[in-house]
Amino acid sequence: MQAESKRRSPKMPEPTLYSALLIDGQLVAGEGLVEAIINPASGEVLTRIAEASLEQVESAVQAAHRAFAGWSRTTPAQRATALLAIADAIEQNAEQLARLESLNCGKPLHLARQDDIPATADVFRFFAGAVRCQQGQLAGEYVPGHTSMVRRDPVGVVASIAPWNYPLMMAAWKIAPALAAGNTLIFKPSEHTPLSILALAPALAQILPAGVLNILCGGGEGVGSQLVGHPRVRMVSLTGDIVTGQKILQSAARTLKRTHLELGGKAPVIVCNDADLDAVIQGIRTHGYYNAGQDCTAACRIYAQAGIHDRLVAELGDAVASLRFARKKDADNEIGPLISARQRDRVASFVERALGQPHIERVTGAAVHSGAGFYYQPTLLAGCKQGDEIVQREVFGPVVTVTRFDQLSQAVDWANDSEYGLASSVWTQNLDKAMQVAGRLQYGCTWINTHFMLASEMPHGGLKRSGYGKDLSSDSLQDYSVVRHIMARHGLQLD
Ligand code: NAD
Repeated sequence: MQAESKRRSPKMPEPTLYSALLIDGQLVAGEGLVEAIINPASGEVLTRIAEASLEQVESAVQAAHRAFAGWSRTTPAQRATALLAIADAIEQNAEQLARLESLNCGKPLHLARQDDIPATADVFRFFAGAVRCQQGQLAGEYVPGHTSMVRRDPVGVVASIAPWNYPLMMAAWKIAPALAAGNTLIFKPSEHTPLSILALAPALAQILPAGVLNILCGGGEGVGSQLVGHPRVRMVSLTGDIVTGQKILQSAARTLKRTHLELGGKAPVIVCNDADLDAVIQGIRTHGYYNAGQDCTAACRIYAQAGIHDRLVAELGDAVASLRFARKKDADNEIGPLISARQRDRVASFVERALGQPHIERVTGAAVHSGAGFYYQPTLLAGCKQGDEIVQREVFGPVVTVTRFDQLSQAVDWANDSEYGLASSVWTQNLDKAMQVAGRLQYGCTWINTHFMLASEMPHGGLKRSGYGKDLSSDSLQDYSVVRHIMARHGLQLD
């Protein structure tokens, strides 16, 4: 307890704000546009960072290209050693990284410490192990007189482009499997949230050979699109918006690059009459609003069966209204602000349009918070219909809708009637029902009586316009590698 209260001491020095990019093993200042980095909890400028120039993008790609020959020939054990060292560096700098994540995203510091940083280190540890125990097809004589075997080899230079909602964790999801599989990388954090990965860059420069991992700051239309268009980049991995995914696909088509797209989500939550209501309320209060709803798996689209609907709306409304945010003491906060004034205004306009519909009822929230920072009140809207914009489109904010249903088959149809296909959940105490619904939902993940939980060992990724390709798990190692067939003719016949 004592150590805990010491960590929360307001006298603790502010973390150092690093601003150097990592190119070819060197920490260098950006030479492009200078961008202000804002603390969304206060709206204040934290620092200003110069983005990579066109020449620096070129240098980073050439460095990754040169480094590929060496890194791709390292053994899985050598790559695992590097990944474990990165995990150690994250843990050794956990407090600094958590504070930067909190400052740059506005998220409560205790949550960054408890959730983001350990999960990030775990991803590196998982891939260090996974790359050493991959399995595959048997070698053998599939054509008489010839032995065939299958190899998995790295793709080449990968450009990885990340969003702002979990900056360091998204970096880990992208960097760890790509490096483990033997690729070299250029990583671009979101222009809003570069601070934590830049703070880790000096350690990364010490651990990895020059050029294996390059970190470039910059906007999507500038540095991002230069990377996507570069002929030496063989694969682009994006976590971001659907529109960004579409632009990247169009550009990548010109050079026929591999793509790995983790795009948006609008997770349906089917609540049956026989669900444990307390668990539902607790689950949605936490997992619908975690990270202020800026999560592609957020439990944001509830379908509640008629027999439980009214109690759910009433109890969830009270629970959501009790969510704590924008308080002085960090430990008192459960959620933070939106990432920017623009994102907050986008959320507000979604809610405004929804409340313009006579059938939609405001249960709680639905207003911009009046204090400093980009906060929006946790919001619950009831009476929503399947065709409503607020039910169909990703809001990416602390807004949850409730739609009533009678027949379970109707709820499954509505849940699937979406352009998104990332995550979903079903809540019932009847396992038969749960398994049948889970089997029919067209989503990359379906949780039963929970929502939002991830494990490094399990694949995460979408269907439909939520994209394709898996993050986490050994499936991700496959995405960052190519299958090759090696066939040897037998020159000598023994008998
Ligand atoms: P965004 O698409 O605006 O930006 C994501 C990244 O793409 C940023 O680094 C940005 O600079 C870059 N980018 C933008 N335009 C580009 C272009 N033309 N070429 C190359 N790069 C470009 O997304 P965001 O606002 O940072 O994040 C929110 C979105 O991310 C939401 O839609 C959310 O659902 C999605 N997301 C998905 C997952 C998932 O696992 N599926 C996880 C987190 C976030």
